[in-house]
Amino acid sequence: MMFYSLNNTEEKSNFKEAIFNSLASDGGLYFPERINKLSLDFLNNISNYNNYEIGYEVMKKFVDKSMNSSDLADIIQKTLNFDFKLYEVEKNIFSFELFHGPTLAFKDVGANFLANCLEYYSEEKILNILVATSGDTGAAVANSFYNKKNINVYVLFPKNKISDYQERQITSRGNNIYPIEIEGNFDDCQSLVKRAFKDKNLRTQIRISSANSINIGRWLPQSIYYFILLKELSKININNKINISVPSGNFGNICAGLIAMKMGLNVNNFIAATNINDTIPRYLKTGNYKIKKTIRTISNAMDVSDPNNFPRIEHIFDNNFQALKNKMYAEKVNEEETKNQIKKTYCNSKYVLDPHGAVGLVGLRRCNLKNEIGIFLETAHPIKFRDSITEILNVNIDDPLKLTNESDSHKIALKNNYSDLIEFIKQSQ
Ligand SMILES: *Cc1c(COP(=O)(O)O)cnc(C)c1O
Repeated sequence: MMFYSLNNTEEKSNFKEAIFNSLASDGGLYFPERINKLSLDFLNNISNYNNYEIGYEVMKKFVDKSMNSSDLADIIQKTLNFDFKLYEVEKNIFSFELFHGPTLAFKDVGANFLANCLEYYSEEKILNILVATSGDTGAAVANSFYNKKNINVYVLFPKNKISDYQERQITSRGNNIYPIEIEGNFDDCQSLVKRAFKDKNLRTQIRISSANSINIGRWLPQSIYYFILLKELSKININNKINISVPSGNFGNICAGLIAMKMGLNVNNFIAATNINDTIPRYLKTGNYKIKKTIRTISNAMDVSDPNNFPRIEHIFDNNFQALKNKMYAEKVNEEETKNQIKKTYCNSKYVLDPHGAVGLVGLRRCNLKNEIGIFLETAHPIKFRDSITEILNVNIDDPLKLTNESDSHKIALKNNYSDLIEFIKQSQ
């Protein structure tokens, strides 16, 4: 399988090159040149497969012969070594919990897969991973890449805009993980990273790659859990058409769902639920793609106003605006609605939503499902947003990781300034 650039489909790389480069040399996002369907036999009998087998069947479609089957199976084992649970929150509405991994967010799946693939192909020359985070990516990447050979990781996070819990997860590792606090917001962090990728001069000096969802090694494995969802539903005899609501920021997760659909997953509608950073809901309504200043919310992983992966979604629909709108709805959910949903769900079923899952649930309910089945992705464990949740619900939540307060911080503070960042990266080689 080759991956082409969305800027120019003649510009192609194989799997290994694509994960090392992150972006094609013309600056475009990589996209698989073909999306092969999984066999009907596999899909109809999915309840007979375990998660590793499902992960293997999905990723086999994208990874080429440069990795042999048993090594791929091995990496899948390391990627999916935790549970994925389906929980019926109210009649016909399910939470699909993606937060049982080592850093309690769905990003563990993609980060683990990418880290293990890069290590598998690693060479003597140091690889520098640059990653911008609104909280959860940084935690997952710091965990997945910790002590990986010949890899340095620079995690850029916005000052005072991620939760304490997330900051502790990112800054406590040290060694090959450099947590960099930027004076700015998430979009500033993302711009710095993007600029480094476009910096030809820098790229002749050091080797850089990204662990954000622009990297296909981080993004594509997220398709796997949509098939695990299919298995969980078939176990409880749900075979009807389903609607899936995905709390969205950079739109990588929902785009992975659309890839799963292209591979044969039967989905009625996808719902992209955003917080008040609503570039895409406005775009689908008006046809006008207009970026506004990013606003801080309690669902901070979705405080994004220029989502990286949206061009991939347009490409999936052959840039046909109407076809896209027919399949994918986009709903903006404000802070008050988010908080009210957290309260309501807790009152009715004692289920504690995290702010992102709550946005997903509000978006889902708004789409008027009648008797259809609705699933929202619960993308992070509520403990990661403890302050918001205790303020809203006034309950204590247990910390599955039992993270301590006094962990060492290896944080490096920098201004929102490109040359300061590059200087730091160079001197730490
Ligand atoms: C990253 C993240 C999201 C947004 O996912 P995208 O792929 O960027 O759309 C939603 N919820 C949580 C908890 C996240 O960490």
